[in-house]
Amino acid sequence: MLEILRRVIQEVNSARDLGTALDIIVERIQQAMGTQVCSVYLLNEERDRYVFMANRGLNAAAVGKVSLGLGEGLVGYVGERAEPVNLENAPQHRRYHYVEEVGEEPFNAFLGVPIIHHRRVLGVLVVQQTSVRRYDESEEAFLITLSAQLAGVIAHARATGSLSLSGSVNDLPASRFQGKAGAPGVAIGTAVVIYPEAELHTVPDRKASDTAAEVVLFRRAVAETRNEIRAMSDKLSDRLRPEDLGLFEAYLHMLDDTAISGEVVALIEAGQWAQGALRAVIESHVASFQAMEDAYLRERGTDVLDLGRRVLAKLQSSVDRRVSYPLNTILVGAELTPSMFADVPRERLLGLVSVKGSGSSHVAILAKAMGIPTVMGVEALPIHLLEDKPLIVDGFDGCVITHPGADQLVFYRNMLKDEAALNEGLEELKNKPCVSLDGHRVRLWVNTGLMTDASRSLDRGAEGVGLYRTEVHFMMNDRFPTEEEQKAIYREHLLAYAPRNVTMRTLDIGGDKALSYFPIQEENPFLGWRGIRVTLDHPEIFLAQVRAMIRANEGVNAYLRIMLPMVSSVTEVDEAKRLIAQCYAEIIEDGAKVAMPAVGVMIEVPAAVYQARDIIKRVDFLSVGSNDLIQYMLAVDRNNARVAELYQEFHPAVLHALKFVVDAAHAENKPLGICGEMAGNPAAAILLMAMGFDVLSMNSTNLLMVKWAVRSFELRKAKRILNKVLKMDNAQEIKIYVDGQMREAGLGRIVRSRMAP
Ligand code: PEP
Ligand code: MG
Repeated sequence: MLEILRRVIQEVNSARDLGTALDIIVERIQQAMGTQVCSVYLLNEERDRYVFMANRGLNAAAVGKVSLGLGEGLVGYVGERAEPVNLENAPQHRRYHYVEEVGEEPFNAFLGVPIIHHRRVLGVLVVQQTSVRRYDESEEAFLITLSAQLAGVIAHARATGSLSLSGSVNDLPASRFQGKAGAPGVAIGTAVVIYPEAELHTVPDRKASDTAAEVVLFRRAVAETRNEIRAMSDKLSDRLRPEDLGLFEAYLHMLDDTAISGEVVALIEAGQWAQGALRAVIESHVASFQAMEDAYLRERGTDVLDLGRRVLAKLQSSVDRRVSYPLNTILVGAELTPSMFADVPRERLLGLVSVKGSGSSHVAILAKAMGIPTVMGVEALPIHLLEDKPLIVDGFDGCVITHPGADQLVFYRNMLKDEAALNEGLEELKNKPCVSLDGHRVRLWVNTGLMTDASRSLDRGAEGVGLYRTEVHFMMNDRFPTEEEQKAIYREHLLAYAPRNVTMRTLDIGGDKALSYFPIQEENPFLGWRGIRVTLDHPEIFLAQVRAMIRANEGVNAYLRIMLPMVSSVTEVDEAKRLIAQCYAEIIEDGAKVAMPAVGVMIEVPAAVYQARDIIKRVDFLSVGSNDLIQYMLAVDRNNARVAELYQEFHPAVLHALKFVVDAAHAENKPLGICGEMAGNPAAAILLMAMGFDVLSMNSTNLLMVKWAVRSFELRKAKRILNKVLKMDNAQEIKIYVDGQMREAGLGRIVRSRMAP
């Protein structure tokens, strides 16, 4: 069964249009189940009807013409119940509805299974037979399994318009793609698609500017690949049998003009650039191999893919990476990383869109810090069709609009104006203190990672740095930076912010933060070798970094604070403290005059919450990393768009944990802050102030909004709100209540609920 399933899905994936895909589905199901009839009905949401879309065994002429209302017939019944309906004698069922054009009168056995994607019924799969019998359990299970898999394929196809109902790409291209809000703001611009090197499937379609030159590039890449294959074959000739060496010959043949090369050149001559043409040809060959019955031949699909990657790598190494970006660049990628957008001149970069990831991914956090509107996790976005296309990024609502219409452009231009007016209004708060209406002082610090943030942060009145993500510098390098290089960078930061507090976090890699030169391959990276776990295992890295931090402060005299990420036990704290003390002693011994930094711990995992008191006894301060704490408390991957709805900062368990940490720190009379994204949410900030956080550290973009919120409430009132909230048992109720309080306090403009057209 698995084998049949796999093949059907592959065939469907490589179909040209939805009609063909559905035809394949009904044909294969009919064969596999040996049933007389198989049909697919798809829901047309505009008309609220199930349309008879594909069939084997009934009147083919009715396909596309007949439809049933939502509550009509057995198909409507399956959709309504969102459950399979298995009947031995369908015409006797009270919901049976006879449709003459379809011609189903001789059929008695009926099994209908809903096609459901993300809780929504997309359609119904039906099999029928003349005999009076119930389909057995294994048949039902087969259809349910197939339908669950097909739902994703159909939803994707319909969303991207690549498989529109009528088969034409231009007919139904969805223009609004829902993802997750990454960084607030709106951008109206032009898509620039960026793709990782040698990743064939992410290469976009692009028009060749010079067809002849593209052909030359392609020919050269093929020649280099041929040489590489011959060299490999020579090298292995004494270790492999002659028949095995035949594989290399086969590779060489595939590159002939009569095979892949000829097809690629034809596509280039039709106007594609070489990389796009290569992708299209390789993908179509791989799809046909993978649909083959014979297991050996199916495997050859992998060889073709390998060959394609090799040629692509050559092509990419001979082409300069893009050097010019339009003035209104919106960078789009399958999986954007911080280093990808670092290449684009800041003044040209208006927005970011990533197919993978969520609002708590690191790329989104950096984007927030830099004030770049961003949408993450737009899984249905057909990025290969977007190069140079006009695009709107709505970083509030988390959606991307392709082919924007006049209405949409007007709506978003107005939104941009509103935003500008709001920001202008906030400007006047820059030099005002962050105090509540009844005089309670809250410290507003910033999270940073790039030197470019500094002037922006200071300009917005940052009173210190609550989190400097040192790994950003490591991630943009192609080897570990030396102690001296680190010292120079840290010194720049310290100088920019002195005499304020600057909290430098020791290297926090692992999870979703990878160093290209220090790969960590793990099944479950967020529960793996991350943060302090890596650096304690590599004391040489830790010691060099801490020494660089302390030495960087010599003569600068900012308040340097060193902070440890991902701590889950006191032994880690003791060990790290020992190493920091060792560094400091060495530096003093060398004659430097520099103060011992404060040392603190991030509370990011539930274990650290419940040991907060034991931890703070050992250090000078605590800082809650709510991004990770929420992920670990709620068991919700912060990068997974599919569960992003469950990632709730107002979850009662999270709020109670935060209060627990505040009480632990204050019981020891030590300060604590919070440096996750939650601190930058004005509504959450009111609750955090009420809990007793001394410092709220956030991306500089949100700083003035949070200041506005703090200055609009009395601490007494905030505490009353908190007390009520702590008695509530779900995040939705809390959010509605807190947003309501914000509106009452005159902060409606920052509690967003704007619906785009
Ligand atoms: C956090 O986890 O809240 C945090 C601030 O660290 P990062 O987002 O870098 O993991
Ligand atoms: Mg963290």
